[in-house]
Amino acid sequence: MKTKNLITIALLLAFCHIRAQNLQISKLTGDFYVYTTYNDYKGKPFPSNGLYLVTDQGVVIIDTPWDKSKFQPLLDSIEKKHHKKAILCIATHYHDDRTAGLAYFKSKGIKTYSSELTKKLCREHQEKEAEFTFKSDTVFTVGGYKIEAFYPGEGHTRDNIVVWFEKDRLLYGGCFVKSTETASLGNIADANLDAWGESLQKLYKKYPKPTYVIPGHLGWTSNKAVVHTVKLLRQHYKETHPEPERTRHQE
Ligand SMILES: [Zn+2]
Repeated sequence: MKTKNLITIALLLAFCHIRAQNLQISKLTGDFYVYTTYNDYKGKPFPSNGLYLVTDQGVVIIDTPWDKSKFQPLLDSIEKKHHKKAILCIATHYHDDRTAGLAYFKSKGIKTYSSELTKKLCREHQEKEAEFTFKSDTVFTVGGYKIEAFYPGEGHTRDNIVVWFEKDRLLYGGCFVKSTETASLGNIADANLDAWGESLQKLYKKYPKPTYVIPGHLGWTSNKAVVHTVKLLRQHYKETHPEPERTRHQE
């Protein structure tokens, strides 16, 4: 009996592990869905979020799956669930958790976009590139939705953009914004830590009261992710710039 229980537990754990590395799709609000795939980060499966919007004209995807085995499953799930095809994909910076599927999506007839700077950095870093580019802040209109690509300045990377959906006050922050679930700035190998805070202020001023904020990684239940990222940057600054010991005044 005991062995049987142990086997059941082992099977359950194995199932959870497989599930954790699968494609997850969660309805956010209205026609918006957050999808999550997993990839190895520091030896452990780590989640990465993207977003898609279902419109009358087709589905718009923000960022591609990080897990290369999930490009087609994402497209299949979208078609099965909504009976619509993906028509447009916008990548928010050059790292592969945003761009890995761009060439694949293009091969499936999806129009892929990024900023010019992102495309240039993709080429320099041998990442997949978007077919089309936009020079500066751009508004796409698809099926009655306004989709605003906005560059707040350097932060997580030199080229990170965010996407704003005015009607639903939804801010897709990508990796420029950290989830309130994490106390870490994550991968800062290509970050500009001196500029990031100011860029966040700019974003905060531009879209002051979002109802939803979607970070590139981990949970999105709080709309305070922008302020949270500012806090993490301050904390990081303090940790890396310890105060010099104050000279004691003799009394
Ligand atoms: Zn990322």
